[in-house]
Amino acid sequence: MELKNSIKYSVVIPVFNEAESLQTLHTRLTRVMEALNEPYEIIFVDDGSSDSSFRIIKDLHDKDKNTRGIRFTRNFGQHPAIMAGFNVAAGDIVITLDADLQNPPEEIPKLLEKIDEGCEVVFGVFQQRKHNAFRRAGSWFSKRVLSRIVSADTTNISCFRAIRACAVHQLTSLKEKNVFLSGMLCWTGYKVATVEVKHDARHVGKTKYSTFKLIARWTDMVVSFTDLPLRIAIFGGLLLGVFACALTLYYLIQYLIHGYGVPGFATIVILVTFFAGAQLFSLGILGEYIGRMSREVKNRPEYIIREIVN
Ligand code: UDP
Ligand code: MG
Repeated sequence: MELKNSIKYSVVIPVFNEAESLQTLHTRLTRVMEALNEPYEIIFVDDGSSDSSFRIIKDLHDKDKNTRGIRFTRNFGQHPAIMAGFNVAAGDIVITLDADLQNPPEEIPKLLEKIDEGCEVVFGVFQQRKHNAFRRAGSWFSKRVLSRIVSADTTNISCFRAIRACAVHQLTSLKEKNVFLSGMLCWTGYKVATVEVKHDARHVGKTKYSTFKLIARWTDMVVSFTDLPLRIAIFGGLLLGVFACALTLYYLIQYLIHGYGVPGFATIVILVTFFAGAQLFSLGILGEYIGRMSREVKNRPEYIIREIVN
């Protein structure tokens, strides 16, 4: 039996300590959504904020019945927060944006235009990112990974997206965790398009991504979509093997020509350190994959919900 879906748009917003921007975001977003003249819902997913974010979400819900809220027990991460939103989103089209007003809600109609043209997954891309060089290096990284899956130009893709429900449902039905969401969306094979949107500087507060969190996210990105690191380890190992052979040959020739030279203490120390490093590096890469496997096998939930306001 097919249920008639009355909600057209679901807006999913991950929130982590964004108390200062929620009110403004809600006002601006509501203005845009009302203008679209279709039933909509706004789903705030509080990813374990320690500030008053959830209280504000509750207030917003009390005043506006189009607004819903989910609260996690702790900080699980932006992607699990978006997945939680996807799991409850009832709209035909799901829009995701950041809570910090870096994705201007006024740009939503641009994304929807592409959806109307028949695309199923639309990414907002930034012409000019208001992020530092370190972050831009990360974007370059994700472009490399994504270009292996889709042909669309994914330079500077953002978390500002519009997605048809079919693609959202595919994503929520996957068992895989640690996902790199944009990559997974491309992987589903639905028609991907990109559209240029504005990227504002952060309204208030600072980025919720520490360097550590960023590196973890990039590792996720690479490890869940490529075997490249494993190959680097293999080729690196081979290369070092060849190097070791050459070195042996070199010392043998030296010995035959000059006899015993200075005892090669330094050489040994350097080589041992070098190879120990190489081995550790390869083990680390293997560990990344094995760690993921073990997490998948344990099959823990991606997030735990403390509270829902509907
Ligand atoms: N966010 C989240 N959980 C986290 C980190 C971030 O839900 O652990 C949310 C955050 O509140 C924001 C969005 O994800 O709505 C993007 O985060 P942020 O603006 O800090 O990232 P940046 O713009 O620096 O990439
Ligand atoms: Mg931001």
